[in-house]
Amino acid sequence: MAVIHDQQIVYQIQQANDIVDVVAEHLSLKKKGREMLGLCPFHDDHRPSMYVNPQKQIFKCFACGAGGDVFKFVQMREGLTFTQAIERLAQRAGIKLKSWKTAAKSDPSIPQVDPNDLAKVNAWAARHFQANLFNNNKAAHARNYLEQRRISPESIKKWQIGLSFFQNDLSSAAKAARISDKLLAAAGLVVRGESGAASDKFVNRLMFTITDATGRIIGFGGRTLDSTGAKYINSPTTALFDKSNCIYGLNHARDKINTSGIAIVVEGYTDCIMAHQFGCENVVATLGTSFTSGHARILKRHAKKVVLLYDNDVAGVEAANRALEICLEHRIDIKIAFVPEGKDPCEFVLAAGKDGLEQLIANAVDVFQFKWNRLVGKFGSDDTFAGNKAATEEFLSTIATAFRRQSLTPIERGLMINQLVSKIAGHGLEAATIKQHLYRRTAGYERENRKVQKVDPENKFFAAAQQEIIEVLLNEPGLFETARQEISVEDFDAPVLKETARILLETLDNNINAPLTAILARAESVEVGNTIVRLQEQGQEKGNYQARLTGALDAIRRYRSHEAKARIRQEGDKAQLLKYISQNARKQNPHNVGMM
Ligand SMILES: [Zn+2]
Repeated sequence: MAVIHDQQIVYQIQQANDIVDVVAEHLSLKKKGREMLGLCPFHDDHRPSMYVNPQKQIFKCFACGAGGDVFKFVQMREGLTFTQAIERLAQRAGIKLKSWKTAAKSDPSIPQVDPNDLAKVNAWAARHFQANLFNNNKAAHARNYLEQRRISPESIKKWQIGLSFFQNDLSSAAKAARISDKLLAAAGLVVRGESGAASDKFVNRLMFTITDATGRIIGFGGRTLDSTGAKYINSPTTALFDKSNCIYGLNHARDKINTSGIAIVVEGYTDCIMAHQFGCENVVATLGTSFTSGHARILKRHAKKVVLLYDNDVAGVEAANRALEICLEHRIDIKIAFVPEGKDPCEFVLAAGKDGLEQLIANAVDVFQFKWNRLVGKFGSDDTFAGNKAATEEFLSTIATAFRRQSLTPIERGLMINQLVSKIAGHGLEAATIKQHLYRRTAGYERENRKVQKVDPENKFFAAAQQEIIEVLLNEPGLFETARQEISVEDFDAPVLKETARILLETLDNNINAPLTAILARAESVEVGNTIVRLQEQGQEKGNYQARLTGALDAIRRYRSHEAKARIRQEGDKAQLLKYISQNARKQNPHNVGMM
């Protein structure tokens, strides 16, 4: 769902938060000339390579290329969305967001309240649950459980573990603290029955406090202590909490993940807590839900590589399999490790310690090894034509996805196909059919790719021209009118450049004197923010704006006429290809038809 931002307010919030002050809250900065210099928190920095420019109100890292305005810094540093970064900085500057629209709030089933109020009531509830845990008379069973699981007193404190008591313990305490029922309900701490009466959502459960990357309490997970209901329940979706977009432990793991580049993902709260207790501090957990695209997006902001550490049972292997498909789609470098049979990661860490866990992570296998092991396993256990066909299809599908997402080169793909062909020989599947089907799965992509990669001078100039135009306009907006007459957003084809161009042209259309910060304030994605800062700097270094713009516009004109000619040729090609496919479909062995 699109989030609508009031540009005026966004800009006001950006102006109210001096980037030097905000960055200095996270790292120490030293003055160097007109700029401030510090250790970059987005890569493993040993020599200060991030500078903050007070005049431009931007930051930029020489080494890793991270850059942007104050929103981007907060987004990257705290793992927030653009909307959350706006909220955070509004709060910091004491600006009230009145007509604030978030995706969650436009859903009529979610009560409309200020997320900051929800965070406050959650913080109050977390303190209440923690106090319960140390109630001498009524909490012995919960403390015994924690002791059995060998969760240390330090971990209990660090992870803000608590206890929900009997029915309506929390509601009564809220009444005494003058917290409204409406707010409790909006935070998902009470539920309304059919009669309309409110009752506590969590009863006699060990309470795990869920925070966002900055430590703000956004929800809870409760584990039953008397086998009533589900083993684990989470807070419902609220204006603050959405479990498919939330990663447990990120506030504690963030720094270690940023510096090591590796995030280890487990499934359970206690798995995550125990890993940290043993000093593995780059471990996070999904909240008892399967791995989602939301999780992938968050991890991608912090980690270069993700290692999944799951149980080695059927459910664990299937969960890992689904998770890796998602990571592959998001082009995340992913590996998979399983704890030895019969244990969960928590028990494993207790038995094997930090070294054991590190060994397990070091031996994690990559996607293709994992898929290959699965294929070989299935061929071994269920050597039927249908079973082998399904296993082969799964393997091929992964290769096709990886190839499409450019995680695999044509040579690697060829090697894997050969490996596959030698495996299936004698299992009733024909090598030629396999190759043909894989070709068909990736053919569309390859044609597209060839079109882009072809060393065509017109294409090369066209790609460079798009960048040139942005570089020039970011530095010399006076040339906007000249450019506007000839180009539109449609002339930019790479997604990031297109979005950058859209923002740039829109901003300049509104106000030709708009400063760089006004352009950055419209960039919701970190990637686009990085690009704007990078192209502004590149452009400034090259100078010579008028001549470069003239050259770039010329290249775009030439490309357009070239493309029109190519389109006519392509129509002919398409007809040829269709003919080829229909002929080959008819030639196929009838037993193999519809295999893929
Ligand atoms: Zn950096």
